[in-house]
Amino acid sequence: NAAGQNIQVYVRVRPLNGDERNARSSSVVSCPGAREVSVQEKPFSHLTKTFNFDKVFAEDSRQTDVSKVVVHPLIKQVLRGYNCTVFAYGQTGTGKTYTMEGLKDFEGSWADDPDAGIIPRSLVEIFEARDKGGFDKDCFQIKVSFLELYNEEIFDLLCKGMDLDRKYKIFEDSAKKGSVIVHGLEERVVQTKEQVLRILEEGSLKRTTAATKMNASSSRSHTIFTITVTITEKSIVGQEKFIEGKLNLVDLAGSENIGRSGAVDKRAREAGKINESLLTLGRVINSRTKTSIIATISPASINVEETLSTLDYAHRAKNITNRPEVNQK
Ligand code: ADP
Repeated sequence: NAAGQNIQVYVRVRPLNGDERNARSSSVVSCPGAREVSVQEKPFSHLTKTFNFDKVFAEDSRQTDVSKVVVHPLIKQVLRGYNCTVFAYGQTGTGKTYTMEGLKDFEGSWADDPDAGIIPRSLVEIFEARDKGGFDKDCFQIKVSFLELYNEEIFDLLCKGMDLDRKYKIFEDSAKKGSVIVHGLEERVVQTKEQVLRILEEGSLKRTTAATKMNASSSRSHTIFTITVTITEKSIVGQEKFIEGKLNLVDLAGSENIGRSGAVDKRAREAGKINESLLTLGRVINSRTKTSIIATISPASINVEETLSTLDYAHRAKNITNRPEVNQK
């Protein structure tokens, strides 16, 4: 049921990494239940803080578990003409990009690769829905765009060349109140896994190049990968009906870099604007979407402060309601 429900909020804990082990940092995070995560607030203390979410993915969770729980229900909505958004939110190095994209060195059969993330898995699921539904390729169009948001500026990760000065205009969509269109953004039609793989590689390469040119770290920018599915239904008398749905997959800047308003602004954060919703970022996408958040955390004691702040924020987001709306075309 898509009607006016709360945002779905999930937590994913990544395993301790080499640096954390070398620093002899121990794990302070445990998952006592499928929906619970507990954090030991201080070393050598039994004081723990427990948070409840829609689902908690423990350290040993697999990419396929995350896709099944988080994205599978959203894809059903997208195919019915809804707009859906998944945000990855958390400290740099906690697995946002791993969760969204996966590891870069996918093999040929990357969709079955255990390390493939939400973006490739979503596209594969949409391809499968198309093939199972017996749709013609012309009647079932899948387009993708990939943009980066840095300092309130938009960079197209799929535009030809390294055209960083290109300016993009954001328009209110006249057909759909409250949603916006980024004008001039490159959109690519995709039909195969191989095309998707190439696009992800191209986008990531451009992201790195852009960051170097701007002397910025990619941990300070947001990326938005959008999949648009347009299904054309022809009635017996030849009338055409369009159903268009979107899936926005957002890899946010490191939470240590962003103010709670969603802006990449250290001062906003320092001013303690923690009640302002990060989801104002959603305006860049669509103000009326079905939204899910995956908060990613490190289990290590050295990151406990940032972990608690991420969980605190994610828990607040749980109380925001959103209202989905079918696109009119
Ligand atoms: P972020 O995007 O939050 O900065 P990354 O996705 O780049 O973090 O992850 C940092 C490192 O940790 C990468 O080398 C990534 O492969 C690894 N990693 C993250 N999450 C997991 C996980 N759940 N399982 C295994 N490795 C992970």
